Parts: sequence; C-alpha cells; structure tokens
Amino acid sequence: MAEKVKDLVCGMEFDKDSASGTFEYKGKIYYFCSLGCRDKFAKEPDKYTAHERKE
Ligand SMILES: [Zn+2]
Repeated sequence: MAEKVKDLVCGMEFDKDSASGTFEYKGKIYYFCSLGCRDKFAKEPDKYTAHERKE
C-alpha cells in the first residue's frame, strides 16, 4: 500500500510512488507533484517547512 505524502508547495496529497520530484532538506525527504513545485521548494525551503512543525 502506497504511503500518502503532501506537497508543501501546492498542498496536494498524493501517493509517494506517484511523486514527480523529491528534495532532501535537513535530512528529510520531501515529495512533490511536479518539478515546478520541487523547484519552488528548492529555492525557499524554509518558507515551506516553517508551516510544518508538528513533529
Ligand atoms: Zn505541487
């Protein structure tokens, strides 16, 4: 069963297996629905990860 992941750039949830791009930041892998979202994240990772401080 595929794990669900969330694209922090556009907020879309999808199966990990169908991710179009990944980016590693601070030891964690982030998944994206498209390379466009991946590029946006790569430019400003702090902007997107700031919202995700639940762990
Ligand atoms: Zn996206």
